[in-house]
Amino acid sequence: MTTIAHGYTMRDLDQLSKIACRQDRSLASDADTRYNAAWSAIAEHLCAAEEPPTPHDLITVGWQAIYREVREMRHMFGHRDKDGTNEVASSQRYRQYWTLLPERPEEGIVERIAVGQILTTIPDLYREAVVALAVHGDYQAAANSLGLKYVTFTARMSVARKQFRAQWFAPETAPPMKGTDRRIGSRSKPLATHCKGGRGPHEMTPENTYRRPNPKPGRRGERVCRACEAERSKVRVAERRKAA
Ligand SMILES: [Zn+2]
Repeated sequence: MTTIAHGYTMRDLDQLSKIACRQDRSLASDADTRYNAAWSAIAEHLCAAEEPPTPHDLITVGWQAIYREVREMRHMFGHRDKDGTNEVASSQRYRQYWTLLPERPEEGIVERIAVGQILTTIPDLYREAVVALAVHGDYQAAANSLGLKYVTFTARMSVARKQFRAQWFAPETAPPMKGTDRRIGSRSKPLATHCKGGRGPHEMTPENTYRRPNPKPGRRGERVCRACEAERSKVRVAERRKAA
């Protein structure tokens, strides 16, 4: 007979754990889990106790451990409350956590504040370039507005971008830049004012156009005329009806 502590043997531990299982009324979870929860808690209590505990003390420790284990499992599986009548994932919080998209308005706010804070640390020369590009939305127009050559302007933007990114990603190192920021499709050809296709020409106003996503990083997608797109989809629907 192996004695564990305070005269209690391994056999006593087994007996007390079984009694604790019977005393726990919840009867939740499987017999093995219940027995193991009680057994470990009783053994731990026995070894840690300074005064010899009574069998009643140990049984209480056992069923309380079972109760705790069951509660934790119910919590983990998202039962609405602890009485066992609600199903898995019935808790509101559980569903919020696992199914609803997290709404984090603070991220956008923090980023907007950070942009301003970082911009104030960049030397005037480079900050002016960033502001000019933001206002004009075009490298050449921004360069003209500052009375700079195109290459001078892009060089300043490159320094500004490097300094900004270093602080934006601090204390980590900024990841390498990919692609080229062009803003417009072609420098030699002005933006089309009217579409070419379909029943057009339609005017290429901001409301009537959108850009297709471009898989190349840093590149803008093709400008598409919404009116033509609508015509094309009407034709497709008609063709499908005819075929059916
Ligand atoms: Zn069109």
